Amino acid sequence: IRTVHVIGGGLAGCEAAWQLARAGVPVLLHEMRPHRSTPAHQSAGLAELVCSNSLRSDDADYNAVGLLHEELRRADSLILRCADTCKVPAGGALAVDRDGFSVMVEREMAAHPNITILREEIASLPPEDWDSVVIATGPLTSPPLADAIRAVTGEQSLSFFDAIAPIIHKDSIDFSKAWFQSRYDKGEGSDYINCPLSRDEYYAFIDALLAGEKVPFHEWEKDVPYFEGCLPIEVMAERGRDTLAYGPGKPVGLTNPNGPKPFAVIQLRQDNALGTLYNMVGFQTKLRHGEQARIFRMIPGLENAEFARLGGVHRNTFVNGPRVLNRDLSLKAQPRLRLAGQITGCEGYVESTAIGLLAGRFAAAERLGNALPTPPAVTALGAMLDHVTGGGMVETYQPMNINFGLFPPAPERDERGKRVKGRDRKKLYSDRARAALPQWLEDAAKALSAETAIQP
Ligand code: FAD
Repeated sequence: IRTVHVIGGGLAGCEAAWQLARAGVPVLLHEMRPHRSTPAHQSAGLAELVCSNSLRSDDADYNAVGLLHEELRRADSLILRCADTCKVPAGGALAVDRDGFSVMVEREMAAHPNITILREEIASLPPEDWDSVVIATGPLTSPPLADAIRAVTGEQSLSFFDAIAPIIHKDSIDFSKAWFQSRYDKGEGSDYINCPLSRDEYYAFIDALLAGEKVPFHEWEKDVPYFEGCLPIEVMAERGRDTLAYGPGKPVGLTNPNGPKPFAVIQLRQDNALGTLYNMVGFQTKLRHGEQARIFRMIPGLENAEFARLGGVHRNTFVNGPRVLNRDLSLKAQPRLRLAGQITGCEGYVESTAIGLLAGRFAAAERLGNALPTPPAVTALGAMLDHVTGGGMVETYQPMNINFGLFPPAPERDERGKRVKGRDRKKLYSDRARAALPQWLEDAAKALSAETAIQP
């Protein structure tokens, strides 16, 4: 069986290499550290956690990332096994001893007979004779390789800076105040959700924005300029207290069916194909997360908003997944190259691991002459894959953590017709995923078995 190359020994690269190796496929892993590092990595170790040591909630019943942990464990993830072994007390979260974790991942990888680790930077597009490559070089992909990926995917499809507006679960918006309408009824006429502010509400909101505590830039992020079209909301407010009311928040072309003509309007735009998530238009921000939730809930209609993700501005290299990736994570422009991890536009340690696991499995099945079915959309693995390859909207594509808003909506009522809300609804998502995963694991095991494979 011919070798598959994996570039990047972070969470996604190690997981992809492991999945290939356990299916009997030889792997060459290329990791540039310690010869060349990134602005955030500190060590030479594989699978270094660059910031927090937490893989977030381990609650598989009520939390989508906990459910993803459970699915990864059931799919024999190396990263989850090492995290479980190196666990430190953290309440309901899965947090690890970061050094012990990195050492264990590296030891397991080095000990596997199918894995060879090379310490070198891949500084251009991989040579033509590497016919199967997984690129898992992360949010801080080295510049020459990022340039090469941009050349293949196109100028518009690779971002270097993440200016993210908060994303809200539609079912947490109060429609006795907010309403659906496009400005001047353009498009479908109801593409946006509008939240009205009176004069007093508007100025109280602007004052809160200006006073809100912001996250400072890292030293290495400072020289990345803002794009004029993508200014943080508080920078816009600093230019004048009325800038927003006369700019993106102007109330023209809109009719409030729930009350008087507003002084300003905050708009939300559909964020995923399922229509369960909406982003706050123009609300990319450096406000601290706690401040964002407090201040944005001042907006009428958003008092009880549940955020699928909060806003942020930081350096991040990622492709527009839905535009450039096939369902098996291969690049449409060069299918011999697969992407994995945060570079696909998933966000976070666990999500990057999940996309690494899938990329490794797709590459392994292909090497064995089989096709790996995609995981069902109702599972956390399937929902994450759908986001990066199709569910995310091409024009507004932004990195996402896993959350139940990425899953096809669960029924709102139980079999007796009773409305299911809150925690009970979350449990419905988890139960549905648990029921669907075993069949996929079984099918995947067949696709990854050398016995059922046609040898290439
Ligand atoms: P990485 O883990 O970054 O791994 C990529 C690997 O590729 C690195 O080892 C790198 O050295 C290597 N590499 C890069 N270019 C090349 C090349 N050309 N040739 C060879 N090797 C190369 N997520 C969280 O869940 N929690 C957090 O608290 C958190 N904090 C973050 C803080 C910062 C400053 C940043 C930048 C990101 C943070 N993230 C956090 C996101 C986190 O980095 C990712 O979720 C996760 O590490 C991505 O995994 P990955 O495998 O895709 O990339």
